[in-house]
Amino acid sequence: MTTLTCCNYIDGQWLSARETIESRNPTNNEVIATFPRSDSADVDVAIASARKAYHSWRQVPAPARAEYIFRVGELLLQHKEELAQLISREMGKAITEARGDVQEGVDCAFYSAGEGRRLFGQTTPSEMPNKFAMTMRMPIGVCALITPWNFPVAIPCWKAMPALVCGNTVILKPAEDTPACATKLIEIFAEAGLPPGVINLVHGLGEEAGKALVEHSNVDLVSFTGSSQTGAFVGETCGRTHKRVCLEMGGKNAQVVMEDADLELALDGAIWGAFGTAGQRCTATSRLILHSDIKEKFTTMLKERTSKLRLGSPTDPDTDIGPIINQRQLERVKMYLDIAREENAKVLIGGEIADEGELKNGYFFQPTILDNVTPDMRVAREEIFGPVVALIEVSSFEEAIAILNNTNYGLSSSVYTRDINRAFAAMRDIEAGITYINGPTIGAEVHLPFGGVKQTGNGHREAGTTALDVFTEWKSVYVDF
Ligand code: NAD
Repeated sequence: MTTLTCCNYIDGQWLSARETIESRNPTNNEVIATFPRSDSADVDVAIASARKAYHSWRQVPAPARAEYIFRVGELLLQHKEELAQLISREMGKAITEARGDVQEGVDCAFYSAGEGRRLFGQTTPSEMPNKFAMTMRMPIGVCALITPWNFPVAIPCWKAMPALVCGNTVILKPAEDTPACATKLIEIFAEAGLPPGVINLVHGLGEEAGKALVEHSNVDLVSFTGSSQTGAFVGETCGRTHKRVCLEMGGKNAQVVMEDADLELALDGAIWGAFGTAGQRCTATSRLILHSDIKEKFTTMLKERTSKLRLGSPTDPDTDIGPIINQRQLERVKMYLDIAREENAKVLIGGEIADEGELKNGYFFQPTILDNVTPDMRVAREEIFGPVVALIEVSSFEEAIAILNNTNYGLSSSVYTRDINRAFAAMRDIEAGITYINGPTIGAEVHLPFGGVKQTGNGHREAGTTALDVFTEWKSVYVDF
């Protein structure tokens, strides 16, 4: 395959770089693309371009801004297969999941475009006679969007589309591992005819280009998705420099299976939730909390199904699990297995790097089940971001919910039960941004709020109408007549 040359996209121009970095295919280590190692000077130019464009873009009527995003959705559909193949190659998720990644972008485009005709304010009665009181939504300004590699198309779309419909201009700083996916996506925005400077792309390292964006005095908002560690830096810096900040960070999601659950359904959910995208989802199921009455039976079913999962090239339609994103992350997963063994967890299946045959050229980890896990162990509390699931046994529903909540994170959660009272209690008592009843912890839809509590997020939500609250300011208006 030929190596792609990725450029920055600033003020409607594709700009090549003084210094470049490589992205590699995690399946076979082949170079996929080179991309600019942007510095603070490149960031300055991108911000100036976004600032200049902001003055005219905010005056474009919202339904007309939305038309551009609708066109982006149509183009994404046209290029869906090409983009999905690129995601599979550069990021490593199985091709069916890669198609889903692009489809999220399509859904988000059509949903966000609809919001262009619904940027409602309110009129309210005034205290005074001959006076109107009302509210309206105002754009924020220049938005820096900093994104991770695990949803290289969906997450940038989730941020950029509502931001643009709301009248902001944006600078995307994508993850270092997936620059080609980001470049292809921005080509599509450009093809949709967005005016120069409205959307900009700046590649580079987090500690260089990302940091420069977050610290810059001419950025009004930072929307960040990534690790809690980086999020803490982004949040602190935005606090010091008076920027609006939206943080979407890690998770330690649990699926509860009660003794009255449909076990086949719960098994489907557990397999998909724990091992989809090789466990590299912020919503991945990394804890399975099992009622003691079904624990043995469910564990046998889980082990059997896990043993049949096929690791391999993600572009092969028969592959269930692709590679881990890179060497560093592979080593991190392995480190957690060492910790699990030290903590006396029992490895029921998997537990090792998979390097037989063709797999040796990439970063594969065996799908892994850890048994005898107690809630205080590190593998029950810390995000692993790999195909590893920890089994925790409980003897009551109340204990299950208490353990589910016993984490610093609060993104997704799931309870399998046929008891409607337990289902409603779970909806009320679980401390998480998302709760599924009889469904896996993964599978968000674009028209509902997405995000989490505790160390997962800082109160903002992506997707749905809540995205409009991130990307607009309220203004109150009083009119005397
Ligand atoms: P990461 O924090 O290493 O990187 C995320 C982005 O931040 C990248 O673009 C990176 O270049 C940039 N960055 C790194 N250091 C920076 C700095 N000092 N200043 C500014 N930007 C900087 O995260 P990752 O490894 O790419 O992604 C995995 C993490 O993302 C996991 O913890 C996962 O749970 C989380 N995630 C969360 C959600 C969510 O919606 N809650 C969704 C997907 C992934």
